[in-house]
Amino acid sequence: MTARILVVDDIPANVKLLEARLLAEYFDVLTAANGFDALAICERTQVDLILLDVMMPGIDGFEVCERLKENPRTAHIPVVMVTALDQPSDRVRGLKAGADDFLTKPVNDLQLMSRVKSLVRLKTLTDELRVRAAAAEALGMDPSLGGALGDEPGSILLVDGRGSSQERIVRALRPVADVTCMSDPQAALFEAAEKPFELVIVNANFAEYDPLRLCSQLRSLERTRYLPILLIAEQGHDDMIVRALDLGVTDYLVRPIEPNELLARSLTQIRRKRYNDRLRSSVKQSIELAVTDGLTGLHNRRYLDSHLKLLIDRSVARGRAMSICMTDIDRFKLINDTYGHDVGDAVLREFASRLRSAVRGADLACRYGGEEFVLVMPDTPPETAAVVAERLRMAIEQEPFRLGDVAVPLQLTASMGIATLSPQSDSPETLLKRADNALYEAKRGGRNRVVAAAA
Ligand code: GH3
Ligand code: MG
Ligand code: MG
Repeated sequence: MTARILVVDDIPANVKLLEARLLAEYFDVLTAANGFDALAICERTQVDLILLDVMMPGIDGFEVCERLKENPRTAHIPVVMVTALDQPSDRVRGLKAGADDFLTKPVNDLQLMSRVKSLVRLKTLTDELRVRAAAAEALGMDPSLGGALGDEPGSILLVDGRGSSQERIVRALRPVADVTCMSDPQAALFEAAEKPFELVIVNANFAEYDPLRLCSQLRSLERTRYLPILLIAEQGHDDMIVRALDLGVTDYLVRPIEPNELLARSLTQIRRKRYNDRLRSSVKQSIELAVTDGLTGLHNRRYLDSHLKLLIDRSVARGRAMSICMTDIDRFKLINDTYGHDVGDAVLREFASRLRSAVRGADLACRYGGEEFVLVMPDTPPETAAVVAERLRMAIEQEPFRLGDVAVPLQLTASMGIATLSPQSDSPETLLKRADNALYEAKRGGRNRVVAAAA
């Protein structure tokens, strides 16, 4: 992880000090002596994190931060404000300017390294998602990343052994979040897995329970893997904090709790989670789009081409039979020519829906091309494949297609070619080819029929 960190401070000694510490951890370090230079560097090169002094002549740190966050090209770069004064009001101002974190001078080594590493780790993930979302966009898919992140109250689960501190924390967070309090860590784990929380705060104040246990469990459950965790630790318990950060705890605070800092850190975590959730779902959505046929919602040919090999290998490895059925609507061109292309589309959708209901969950139904579909049936010997194909053929023939915009129901039929995998000799191409040949035989033999390829 050789992240590039920009250190901005008008006092050369401060720059040198931070630079030396970061270089010792093998980070790549850039430096700037004022806000304008910092902005110019961020425009020009790729920066992964900025350590930004607040008090500087010219434009101060708050304004630099605001400008960075307003610019879409730099808005995603995490900014850590470094303040000389430990003023709560500074933190609130920094937060408003969009800062991701704060450090107070003199900068404590543990805080510096833990916050830098955690932000860099997070940015690596975000960058990856951003690249994929951009790639999807370039392919003409809309990953819909727009829109505000929402200022609606966050949803926080507080796990805290003491009633009195629960009350104080709830009061501090009231302006930005709804807080659910629990004092039983095991019950809290279930709660976190069940409900859509955006942050878990673990207050390490249990008499006989190691709070890191809960943190580690939260990290290992699928449902809570991406849920940020904020740990509240005892002053001086640095070993625990280091272990917590290693386990994947996202951030920490030390007691006594400073309400503004708690608020700032919680809000940052919630915002980040919202941003990453949105990226993740847009990536998922574009992957789905890439393998789905837009008209029918079935898998597309690209998906079939990439999965058939896998399904064949699996059948061979398990010594199971596998069959495929290629089907093509009979005289479909006539539908287009008589009723228009839109009606043709409606027929294809209805055909796909009948295909879907004629098959089992384990079968893979794809639109292979225009009015041609392929059904892959794992664990299916030729006799069963023939039964399925015949059932599908009847489902098309026996029930006329009633489409909204055509007065008369349309009588349609389809032809089917089936082929069963020869484990020793078949590749996806040869298997498809044999099904295609069988389909051609079915067409030649008069259509509306099922023909099985010779093995
Ligand atoms: P056969 O029984 O031999 O299969 O005859 P056919 O008319 O069904 O076959 P042919 O391959 O001659 O024509 C297929 C038609 O399907 C031609 C093409 O314009 C139409 N088609 C392909 N994709 C779509 C689509 O997405 N929507 C519509 N409405 N028509 C499509
Ligand atoms: Mg056809
Ligand atoms: Mg055709």
